[in-house]
Amino acid sequence: MPIRVLSPDLAAKIAAGEVIERPASVAKELLENAIDAGAHEVYLEIAQGGRRLIRVSDDGCGIPAAEVELAFSRHATSKLSSVEELYRVRTLGFRGEALASIAAVSRVTLFTRCAGEQVGTLVRLEGGVLASREARGRPPGTMVQVENLFYNTPARLKFLRTDPTEAGHVARLATSYALAYPGMRITLHSNGRLVLRTTGTGELYDALVAVHGLDVAEQMLDIGPTQTQGARIQVWGYVGTPQLHRATRRDVVFFVNRRWVQDSSLSYAVTQAYHNLLPAGRHPMAVINVGLPPEDVDVNIHPTKREVRFRRQRDVFVALQRAVRRTLMAQHPVPVITPSPIIDLRRPSRWQEGMALRAQGASPPEPIQDGVARPLTIEPRPAGRLPMLRVLGQVAQTYIIAEGPGGIYLIDQHAAHERVRYEELKAHYAARDVVAQELLEPLPIDLTPQRAALLEDHLEILSRHGIEIIPFGSTTFLVKGVPSALIGQDVSTALSEIVDAAMDGGETFSWEDQALVILSCHTAVRAGQVLSLQEMRDLVRELEQTALPHTCPHGRPTMVHLSQTQLEKEFGRR
Ligand code: ADP
Ligand code: MG
Repeated sequence: MPIRVLSPDLAAKIAAGEVIERPASVAKELLENAIDAGAHEVYLEIAQGGRRLIRVSDDGCGIPAAEVELAFSRHATSKLSSVEELYRVRTLGFRGEALASIAAVSRVTLFTRCAGEQVGTLVRLEGGVLASREARGRPPGTMVQVENLFYNTPARLKFLRTDPTEAGHVARLATSYALAYPGMRITLHSNGRLVLRTTGTGELYDALVAVHGLDVAEQMLDIGPTQTQGARIQVWGYVGTPQLHRATRRDVVFFVNRRWVQDSSLSYAVTQAYHNLLPAGRHPMAVINVGLPPEDVDVNIHPTKREVRFRRQRDVFVALQRAVRRTLMAQHPVPVITPSPIIDLRRPSRWQEGMALRAQGASPPEPIQDGVARPLTIEPRPAGRLPMLRVLGQVAQTYIIAEGPGGIYLIDQHAAHERVRYEELKAHYAARDVVAQELLEPLPIDLTPQRAALLEDHLEILSRHGIEIIPFGSTTFLVKGVPSALIGQDVSTALSEIVDAAMDGGETFSWEDQALVILSCHTAVRAGQVLSLQEMRDLVRELEQTALPHTCPHGRPTMVHLSQTQLEKEFGRR
């Protein structure tokens, strides 16, 4: 094919693709424009995950009537006039690309009035082409409405996820900016439902309460104004106590000069600061601001401006890590997590390592020094069906001790019962014979707006699990019925665990499975519960019948096994 210059239409769509990936990218650009315009109050609205509608209104400085069309030209900006300024940029926008890109792939309406002018301007654009323009009155500020995103780029449309997932991305964006700009009142509605509203008091703590709820905010520690490196780098914000851990990194957010950024090295600095304080595989919560002279950070790395480059990378890393660690150490009695007592199935056990060393003629490793002498290491059972076990008794009201053909078994009564319950509940669910038992008195539960929106989208699934919930006001719900096994249990904790897991879970999260896991956990016998010999026998028989008797639904082992051979070796009989 001969070389040809792309048509302006095609070039515009290609360029738009770099900036606008999904509805949340549109919301981000519009929100950043509102912030750059000095808004005190911003309303965000989306419908159908932003696919049908994204609307952002602000009370900022507005666009002069004469410049409205120019604002939609590519590389048209009021924020930058020289190359030197690029290296000291203080605004969130500077590339002059967003409005042009958004307009190229949607139907846009912009209604604005500049404070110094008498009348406002209303324009409509279709696929980047001006369709109408009129003068009309309105208060100072700007409203941008984006409809039918990607209507003219079907390939992009196909890459969008479900509406709740896309709405989740917009909610995450709004909550992140709410934390970066606590002085700005931010409201987000999704399908007419309130998802977020901040107070705009200017206090980060108030924004934390609006975003995560009071329970979480109370467990966040103020980093305080920390200045290091000759006051060139400042770090402030809040970090969660180590007890507040999450399944993903999504609640660790960073702002560099109040720009929301993604940076793996900043993330790593925080992880390091929590070293030894969090259980393996869990992540902290943190809202961290890094302030430094604009000339020390390059923000022009990527069209979406989500990445930055630091001139003194190492200094930033150290400042951040120290600030977080100091906060954790100073403000909280920190329990240091000793090596997990749960045997890691993926690693060879210390017993196996010891045997391997002995086989090579070396001495075995020392017992783990955590205050408890552990000369003996026992094995989790390998996968496969259980042999017939004879129950001997209960240890610490938590473990069932049993004997089988292969030696001694210690069974975690809660984990084992969870496995039994999980498979029962799953079979009932599959057979669609779960019935809700009506509660004598409906139980009210109150959630943060974001959690409430998430729950409301999944009431149908929960109802299939026998959990009947009806909305009752914008963030309150009434639990009308639960499966009979849950009667008398802590229903509201079980529900908030499901919603929390969904908040944490990301795109692979399954409500169906999580509901089963949490229902089985809440209806299983607990550690510390005395069991009769008969009850223990019944439980072990039931465990033998399950498909996966060796792990609980959370993936922890249900039992550890000490084989006859191990016993003989440990006692020097071999
Ligand atoms: P950039 O933000 O990089 O300058 P945009 O395409 O996002 O580029 O916006 C182009 C210009 O339109 C901005 O420089 C600004 O002058 C004007 N503008 C856009 N949105 C707003 C708004 N909400 N309030 C005031 N001016 C705005
Ligand atoms: Mg912009």
